[in-house]
Amino acid sequence: MAQVYFKSASTPYAKDALHLSIKKLMEKISTIEKGDIVAIKLHMGELGNIGYIRPVFVRKVVDFVKGQGGKPFITDTTTLYGGHRGNAIDYLMAAAINGFSISSMDCPVIIADGLLGKDEEIIGVDGYKIAVAKAIAEADYLVTLSHFKGHGMAGFGGAIKNLGMGCCSKAGKTWQHEESKPLYDESKCILCRKCLTFCPADAIYEENGKIKIDYEKCKGCGACTVLCEQGCFYLTNDIAREFQKRVAIAAKAAMKKFNGKATFINFLLDITPRCDCCSFADKPLIDDIGILASSDAVAIDQASYDLVCKEAGKDIFYELHGIDGTAQIREGEKLGLGSREYELVEI
Ligand code: SF4
Ligand code: SF4
Repeated sequence: MAQVYFKSASTPYAKDALHLSIKKLMEKISTIEKGDIVAIKLHMGELGNIGYIRPVFVRKVVDFVKGQGGKPFITDTTTLYGGHRGNAIDYLMAAAINGFSISSMDCPVIIADGLLGKDEEIIGVDGYKIAVAKAIAEADYLVTLSHFKGHGMAGFGGAIKNLGMGCCSKAGKTWQHEESKPLYDESKCILCRKCLTFCPADAIYEENGKIKIDYEKCKGCGACTVLCEQGCFYLTNDIAREFQKRVAIAAKAAMKKFNGKATFINFLLDITPRCDCCSFADKPLIDDIGILASSDAVAIDQASYDLVCKEAGKDIFYELHGIDGTAQIREGEKLGLGSREYELVEI
């Protein structure tokens, strides 16, 4: 049974301040050795999003890694769709605005899949060949920091999603998305025509006063499911299942070279409906819960999900997106990525 350490968001005294818990949590699970090159993987937030992990927590991780004799770098990968993170230059500018730079973090910020998202290492796993971002594949140790929140395609996003999608180059991301193309509900359309500009694949077009999707061009990126304000583009649970399965396979590939030298921290703070890729962040769905840490990506996501459901009194992510997020956890366990059985240890 995996151990998941938990620090409650309740902080009545200065000694309980949440940023102080990072060192205590890392001490429970870290196996960083002197000289290890340590990739600290997180989503540094789309411009305009305010739900991403606060820089003060990340700096505490950097300080801990240095204290162990490791060589840390902060990292993420480029996106498939529009926005301010599609290449390394745009991403580094957005990251600096959001609080992540060499001066604030006291370590380099490196976009792991290179300038244009093509720097990758092909890693074979269970018969699949997955394009993992090179700088992550080359590191000695991986610390995965995940903001736990809702996600329109995966149900929720946590450690598995951060590993699978977040650690891959553009080619790896394309493979995960390509079989999960949205459906279109014409009855909701008010013909505002906004979708004609936001599709990164130029797959949405107008014909005889009606909006259509060219499925040959569609990459399944899911941007239209977020950006159409009428909710015309949508996924079903069945379509999402293939996406979730591929995310779990990619997560296993990202983990393959670390052979246990990995640590996961999930932040159950500002639990927003959608992911940090959105250029906005709605009000949190529920009160802050706390911070979890484990060396098991499956266990930490299961524990995070259970705590959110307990706090909400229901599966709030399913209610929002109509997608069973637990499928990615079950796929992860099936692939041997970790265990859904866990013991929650409060610190
Ligand atoms: S953005 Fe939505 S409502 Fe507007 S034209 Fe496209 S499908 Fe219709
Ligand atoms: S149609 Fe929608 S899912 Fe397909 S590429 Fe365009 S924005 Fe992405």
